Amino acid sequence: MDNRPLFLYNKVSFKTDKEVKYLENTFSKISSVVKSQLYPFIKLRELSLLSYTYEDFFDYIVKKNDIKVLGHHFSKRRIDGLTIIDSQGGVSLSYEKENPVTRQNFTKCHELGHFLLGHQGNVFTELKDNQDTLEEVEANCFSACVLMPEIVLLSKIYYQRSRFQEVANSLLVSAEALSIRLLDILTHLLNEYREYVGQVIQTYRSGDNRKILQLFNRAHDSIVADYQHYEIVPQEKLDYLLQQKDFITDDELPELTDIDFRNQISSRKIGTWAYYDRGKTIFYAWNKEKLTEKEAYQKAKTKYYLS
Ligand SMILES: [Zn+2]
Repeated sequence: MDNRPLFLYNKVSFKTDKEVKYLENTFSKISSVVKSQLYPFIKLRELSLLSYTYEDFFDYIVKKNDIKVLGHHFSKRRIDGLTIIDSQGGVSLSYEKENPVTRQNFTKCHELGHFLLGHQGNVFTELKDNQDTLEEVEANCFSACVLMPEIVLLSKIYYQRSRFQEVANSLLVSAEALSIRLLDILTHLLNEYREYVGQVIQTYRSGDNRKILQLFNRAHDSIVADYQHYEIVPQEKLDYLLQQKDFITDDELPELTDIDFRNQISSRKIGTWAYYDRGKTIFYAWNKEKLTEKEAYQKAKTKYYLS
C-alpha cells in the first residue's frame, strides 16, 4: 500500500525502499518535534483551537530567540526566503514581501523550521529549484505542522464543520497547502490509499464534507490522544506564570510541593519557600527581580489567611 506522505512523494526524488522509509520516518519525526512544543504552548496559554493561527507560536519563538524578521524583494521574486545566522549567533529571517500572503506565511514558518530544527549552516536560501534536499523537506514539513496542527484541523473540520475554503482562510494558508496537509495526515494516520484520500479531499473542496467527516471520525481518537499526550512541562509553566505575575503558589503549580523541583528551579532570579502554620503549608515561588523575600513571605501569609 502506498501511503507515504505526499510532501515527501512530490518533493523528493528517491529511489529505494530504504530511502522511502527514511523519509516517512522524517515526516513522523518532524511532526513529533512540532507537537511537543506547540501543543504544550497552546495548552499553557489556553488558546482557542478554533481561532488558532501560526502567529502566536511564531511570535513567541521569534521574541524568545531575538530573531529579526524582515520582508525583502528581489527581482522576479527569485528568493522566497532567507535565514542568516551571523558569527555572533544572531539570527535574521526574511521573506519575499511581494509573494501572496499565504506564501509569505509558509516561508516564515519554513525558515523558523531551519532554526528550530538546528540545521547545519549559516545561510538558508529558498530558491525555486533547491527544495528537494532533506533539510528543505524537513523545513517544509515543519512549516505545514505549525500552520495546520492536526488538533486544529480536527476542531475546525470535524467539530465546527467548517468549509474547506473557510479552514484555509482562517489558518492563513493556500488551498493547495491545506490539501497537501490533509492528504499527509489522513494517509499517515489511517494507513489509507493516497488516491482515495485525495478524492475525498477533492469532494470536500467542492462543498461536500460527508466523506472527510468519515475519515476524521476514524482518525479522531488518535489525534485527540496525541494532543493529550504532550503535556505542559512544569518548568515552562513556572516561567510563564512568573512572567504574568511575580508570585505563585502550589495551587497553580502543584509541583512546588516537591522539594526536588523547588531545588531545581531556585536560582538568582527565582526564589522558593514555604509558609507553615497550624498544620497547613503553602509552597510558593516568586520573581526575585520584582519581589523581595519578605514581600513574597507576606503574600504567602495573606494567601494563607484568605484560603
Ligand atoms: Zn529552506
